[in-house]
Amino acid sequence: MEKKLNPAELKLDSLAVHGNMGHDGHAHAVSFPIYQTATYINTNFGHDIDFSYSRCANPTRDELEKTVALLEGAKYGFAFSSGLAAETALFSTLSKGDHVVIGDDVYGGTYRLSRDTFPRYGVEFTVVDFSYPEKVEAAITPATKYLYVETPTNPMMKVCDIAAIAEIAKKHSVKLVVDNTFMTPVFQKPLSLGADVVIHSGTKYLAGHNDTMAGFLLTSDEDIRTAVAFNRNTEGAALAPFDSWLVLRGIKTLTLRMRKHHENAVKVAQWLTNCKAVDKVFFIGLDSHPSKAIIDKQCTGYGGMLSFTLKDTSKVRHALCDYKMIMFAESLGGVQTLITYPLTQTHASIPKEVRDSIGITENLLRLSVGIEDAEDIIADLASVLEDC
Ligand SMILES: *Cc1c(COP(=O)(O)O)cnc(C)c1O
Repeated sequence: MEKKLNPAELKLDSLAVHGNMGHDGHAHAVSFPIYQTATYINTNFGHDIDFSYSRCANPTRDELEKTVALLEGAKYGFAFSSGLAAETALFSTLSKGDHVVIGDDVYGGTYRLSRDTFPRYGVEFTVVDFSYPEKVEAAITPATKYLYVETPTNPMMKVCDIAAIAEIAKKHSVKLVVDNTFMTPVFQKPLSLGADVVIHSGTKYLAGHNDTMAGFLLTSDEDIRTAVAFNRNTEGAALAPFDSWLVLRGIKTLTLRMRKHHENAVKVAQWLTNCKAVDKVFFIGLDSHPSKAIIDKQCTGYGGMLSFTLKDTSKVRHALCDYKMIMFAESLGGVQTLITYPLTQTHASIPKEVRDSIGITENLLRLSVGIEDAEDIIADLASVLEDC
């Protein structure tokens, strides 16, 4: 019996499980197959065919792209070999003389693209704290093409008002790009708030298991779609079939995982707030967060990311390395709880004076709260932090 799935009628939990087609139309396999092929037989001489070469299109990647586009409420989705490959395809839609206003607390690799790579081709960037919409507006010039923002930011968990920034973008005819890696479409839908493009490091929550790299660009904007499709095909960083399948598989449990990350992070943040060794806790689920009203308005959950500072900087090594379960490692968004040292890991490429101005200090640690039992996470933290 042919299944007639209409993704438009499904709620997010069901969409995540069933994806775009939900099954393979050829052999009716329940698990969408990995089309591990580089090329395809041309069955229609003289006419365009859907699949000709896997850099251009691959059925497994197609299913994944359409699935992530559905989750974000976008018409079009592109899957890349990493988040930075997606960002590169986006920024290479720009030309010499074009200008971007970018957040001051973006991912380290994004910062490198904006400071080292694209300025060499004549694309200019102005760095702004997007928590102040008036500063964003003041930075826009006639050459500005994109406003580029992460919310919440990494690692300081600053939040900006996507709808307010989107209004500024529309007023000045520039496009708003939101990196939605931390929240995922489960907790935040930037396109529905007026953004034009969503970027993901699919390596993080979407794949969710710390076992593959991926990146996404989602949009309903026809011009951006055309330019990004050209760049992806030309630069060649499309996601491989097996990795596409791993992300598709990960997404089936995305909504469940996100709820558990959220629940655990709320408990861990509460515990850290009362921990004597800890100075400040940065988490969007705290009532004391300076942007609480915006968070309540645009997010339906808090995710699993938080940062905190230790009172005693000399205890940093102990507070990173001596857990039984929690792992000292880069990256985030997977099922395992990871602790990261932004200063020497994720944000090492950011100059010291910029790091200091953002708050990435020697005593700042970042936690990606996993989906283990919250009591085990807290017991592990307590075993180390109670003697820091
Ligand atoms: C990891 C990350 C990126 C970069 O993605 P990669 O998959 O590592 O290339 C971009 N933005 C955010 C918020 C990230 O956490």
